[in-house]
Amino acid sequence: MHRLTGIGVSGGVAVGRAVVLIQNAQAIRFRLRQTQIDSELEALASARDRSHQQLVEIRNGIAQAGNADLASLFDAQLLMLDDPMLLARVEALVREERINAEWAVQQVADGLGEIFSRLEDPYLRERRGDVADVMGRLRMNLRPGRATPRDLLSAVEGACVLVCDELTPSMAAQVDWSRIQGFATDAGSRTYHTAILARSLDVPAVVGLHDASRRIAAGAIVALDGESGDVLVDPDEATLTTLKARARRPVARSSGEPVNGPAQTADGVAIRLEANVEFPADLHAARAAGAEGIGLYRSEFLLAGSLDELVDEETQYRAYRSLVEGMAPRPVTIRTFDLDDQQLASRSRPAAARGWTGGRGNPLGLRGMRLSLSRPDFFRTQLQALLRAAAHGSLRILLPFVSGVDEVREARRLAAEAASVLAARGDTPPPVPLGIMIEIPSAAYAADLLAREVDFCTIGTNDLIQYCLAVDRADERVSHLYEPLHPAILRLISIVRRAADRRGIPVSLCGEMASDPALLALLVGLGLREFSMTPAAIPVARRLLADIRADDMRRFAREALRLPTVQAISRRLLEVLSVREVTRTT
Ligand code: PEP
Ligand code: MG
Repeated sequence: MHRLTGIGVSGGVAVGRAVVLIQNAQAIRFRLRQTQIDSELEALASARDRSHQQLVEIRNGIAQAGNADLASLFDAQLLMLDDPMLLARVEALVREERINAEWAVQQVADGLGEIFSRLEDPYLRERRGDVADVMGRLRMNLRPGRATPRDLLSAVEGACVLVCDELTPSMAAQVDWSRIQGFATDAGSRTYHTAILARSLDVPAVVGLHDASRRIAAGAIVALDGESGDVLVDPDEATLTTLKARARRPVARSSGEPVNGPAQTADGVAIRLEANVEFPADLHAARAAGAEGIGLYRSEFLLAGSLDELVDEETQYRAYRSLVEGMAPRPVTIRTFDLDDQQLASRSRPAAARGWTGGRGNPLGLRGMRLSLSRPDFFRTQLQALLRAAAHGSLRILLPFVSGVDEVREARRLAAEAASVLAARGDTPPPVPLGIMIEIPSAAYAADLLAREVDFCTIGTNDLIQYCLAVDRADERVSHLYEPLHPAILRLISIVRRAADRRGIPVSLCGEMASDPALLALLVGLGLREFSMTPAAIPVARRLLADIRADDMRRFAREALRLPTVQAISRRLLEVLSVREVTRTT
C-alpha cells in the first residue's frame, strides 16, 4: 500500500480500480483481464492492417497527383509501421503488463519520441513528427468511431476511480458518473471549476496530487478520501474493508438520467436550461437530460458533404420540421447558417470535430449574417424552409454574428419577403420570433439599440470572449488569456442582460461558459435566467443551481463587477461558493 496526499475538495470515500486518463493525449489506461489479452492483440493486428492500408492509399493518391517528395514521406511512415520491432514492443507491453493496447501504443510512441528528440542530426530529429503520426494513426484505428472519453471508458468494467492529469468541465460532462466512484487529479485548480464540478457531480474528489496519473498503475485498487485528501493505493484487506464501509453507495448520476421540471436555485428562482445541438440525433440526449427546449441548433451542421442537395428548401424544411416535432411541445431555436465564405466554397463540414473551434477561414471576414446577407437567395431559401417548419411547432429564428442594427433590419426584410413567397404559394406561415446572437463586442455595446429590433437575444460567449479580448484560442502563446472571468466580459454580459430586461425581451446565454458550474453560478448572479448548453452538462448544472441562492449570487456579482482582475474575481467566487482555493501544481 502507498499513500498520496492531495487536497480533498469534495467529501466522501470512493473505492475502485484506477482508470488513468491523460486529458492532453486523450489516452486512457486500464488493466486487462487475462481473458481479454488475446482479443486485445487481435484488435492491435487489425489496427495495424487498417493503418497500413490507409497509408498506402494516401501515398498512392499523392504520387498520382505528381508530388513524389511528399509521397516518399509516407513510404517512410510505412516502413516504420511495418517494422516488426515496433509492434512487438507494443504486444509485449499488452501481454506482460496487461495494459490496453491503446496505452501500450502511446507508451512506445513516447519512448521513440524521446529517442528521436535526442538525435543530433536535425533531419532525423524531425522524423519525430512522423513517428507520432504513425502511432497516432495506430491508436485511432484501435478505436474507430469511438472518440469521446465516454466511449473510451465504456471498455472499463466494474467500479472505478478516475485518476487524471486534469479534468475539465467539458471532459467531465462526457463521463458516465454512474460508473465512476470519484476522481483524483494531478493538477490543483487555479481553475475554479474542478472543486465545484466535483461537488455538483456529487462525487468524492482529491486534487493537487502532482503526479498521481504517472504513479498510480492502471488497475490498482484506489481508495480516496475527499475530506482528508488521502489517496491509498492497493490498501491492505483490513483497511480496504473499513474504507469500503465508508464508501458512498453509487447513486444514479449518469448524465442521461431522466430529470423532470424546471431547474431551481435554493431560494426558489426558476432557471431555464435548454440544449445546444448540432445533429438531429442529439435530440434524444437533450430530452433525456431534461432540456426545456433547444436553445441553439447550429444549422450549418446540416451541410455535411453535399451542399447542393441539402441546401434546397424541401430538404431543409424536412430537417427543421423533424427537429421541431421531435422536441414538441418544447421550443426549438434554430440559428441560420453560421458559415464563412471559405466553408461555403469548399462545401465542407463547418468543423471537422463537433464544437465551435477550428475549421473556419478568416474569422473577421464574410461570416454568419454577413455571408447570408451577401447571398440573399441562399438566405431566403433557408428562411422559407424555417417559416414552413414553424407551422409544426414552436420555432424561433436566431441570426448569428450580428454586428449592428442594419443587419437585423435587412434580415427582417428578407424574412418578410420569404413569408410573401410562401403566402403566394398559399402557405401562410405563423409569426416567428426573430432573435440574434450577441457574440461580437459591437452588438453587446449596442444591445439597447438591437433590443428594439428583435424578439429575443442570446449571448454567445465563445466568440464574444475571443473577439473582446482579442485572443485566438488556437494560438497556444495567448490561449491562456482566453478568460471568461475577465472584468470586461462580465461587464458586457451585464450590459446585454440589462438592455434586454429594459426592453422586456428574453435573453439567454449559450456559450460554453454556461456548462461550467462555477461560472453558471456567477451568471445567475448577473441576472441571467436562461441558458443553453451541451446536453451532458444539464444535469450537473441542475444540481449546482439547487445548491446556490440567487440572492447571494446577485450580491456577489455586484461586487465582482467592481473587482479589477480575473484572479480577484475567481478567488472571491470560490469563497462565495465555499470552496477552498487550490493553486495549480503542475
Ligand atoms: C458562441 O459563439 O458562443 C456560440 C454559441 O456560437 P458558436 O459556438 O457556434 O460560434
Ligand atoms: Mg459563435
